Amino acid sequence: GLGVAMVTAVAQRMLTQRHEVEQLLAPLRLSRADLERVQGLMRQEMERGLGRDSNADASVRMLPTYVCNTPDGTERGDFLALDLGGTNFRVLVVRVMQEGIHMASEIYVVPTSIMQGTGEALFDHIIECIMDFQTKQNLMEQVLPLGFTFSFPCQQLGLDKAVLLTWTKGFSASGCVGQDVVQLLREAAQRKQHLALKVVAVVNDTVGTMMACGYDDPRCEIGLIVGTGTNACYMEERKNVGTVEGEEGRMCINMEWGAFGDNGCLDDIFTTFDRMVDEKTINAGKQRFEKLISGMYLGEIVRHILLAMVDKQLLFRGKPSLKLQTKDIFQTKFLSTIETDGLALQHVQDILRDLELDASFEDSVLVREVCQTVSLRAAQLCAAGLAAVVEKMRENRGLAQLAVTVGVDGTLYKMHPHFSHNLQQMLQDLAPNCAVTFLQSEDGSGKGAALVAAVACREPSP
Ligand code: BGC
Ligand code: MG
Repeated sequence: GLGVAMVTAVAQRMLTQRHEVEQLLAPLRLSRADLERVQGLMRQEMERGLGRDSNADASVRMLPTYVCNTPDGTERGDFLALDLGGTNFRVLVVRVMQEGIHMASEIYVVPTSIMQGTGEALFDHIIECIMDFQTKQNLMEQVLPLGFTFSFPCQQLGLDKAVLLTWTKGFSASGCVGQDVVQLLREAAQRKQHLALKVVAVVNDTVGTMMACGYDDPRCEIGLIVGTGTNACYMEERKNVGTVEGEEGRMCINMEWGAFGDNGCLDDIFTTFDRMVDEKTINAGKQRFEKLISGMYLGEIVRHILLAMVDKQLLFRGKPSLKLQTKDIFQTKFLSTIETDGLALQHVQDILRDLELDASFEDSVLVREVCQTVSLRAAQLCAAGLAAVVEKMRENRGLAQLAVTVGVDGTLYKMHPHFSHNLQQMLQDLAPNCAVTFLQSEDGSGKGAALVAAVACREPSP
């Protein structure tokens, strides 16, 4: 009778809805074959980046760092360290002693107005923070060697000379691209009458992380960041680095893999949502791989998917909130919370209510599924990139099996409940001949910069 007809109609509608959800999410679900292809493309871009004549056309820049050794435990001394380019700006004093490493640090805020203002204001701000820190730590009278963790792509001409190639993440301070950041720091110090600054090394955060973890684990020859941005570095055979002289030994290469795909090679991986997110950034068309993976963007991808679902009447009874249309309102830390195992759906509803969304239980389940899809893809793409790295290292060394440690840092890696597991599982699958251990760094960037400075103070740069 009528009852049966109604039940059938409801069931029919649910099926149709499920089908529409699947259709919407399908482009974000990568097959194993997709990931193998991404791995192969990464390998190809790595080779191009390393080649002297092909480097200019590679999307993965494979930048020499002039760091040729991981720590051996004999490093000693007191250092200042700066860490710029993640969620926070930090100034540290690092004492590397026989008994271990001791550190003290302060966090300083870099307001968006300074990140996106003039280079002079940015570097003046940095010097002011250093002076504040030195005053607080009673270090004004000393001239400690300084290691600068600067987490942006730089063409290094030596350990203490780093020309900024481009800003990434939320930075766009004027007058810095094409300049040596050490010089910019020195000029600011002069403007501020702070004449006792002795910069001895500039390192990328991936390198700092690798070095910090390398101090505890000699097998650590890869650094990985999955935070605001994403990137990796690893120890490459010097003879393979076509862009620097020298054949002997190894050199750490800052891959700058966030830019992977900027030459179009990942175009069929990008979804409509990825394109919408990219278009609204201050560096549209750039850092395309990073925009699929890192904390600055995952929440935005989710937000765009939710908007599309509302549009198709699949969520919130088709009623979007004004808030949901606001850029960056759906933060990546919500993914971490929403995906927490055993979290009551009520909690998801609360997060959504803060966004002025009236979510039913079904809505909450669906929002969680969207978050899971986006973070899983990020972890798997990251695994495909890492698989290319470990496989290259294994081949470089002519080994049937490689055992290697990855030093890792970054808010997404550390805070998300499933990212690291998904990453490790996919990596094992894609690079079965490599036994990869992940070591989380504690204060890696600062510690690492000090260790690089320590090595630099011990021997002249190559
Ligand atoms: C930068 C890299 C950095 C990474 C992680 C990227 O946007 O280009 O230099 O290592 O973010 O902080
Ligand atoms: Mg950082």
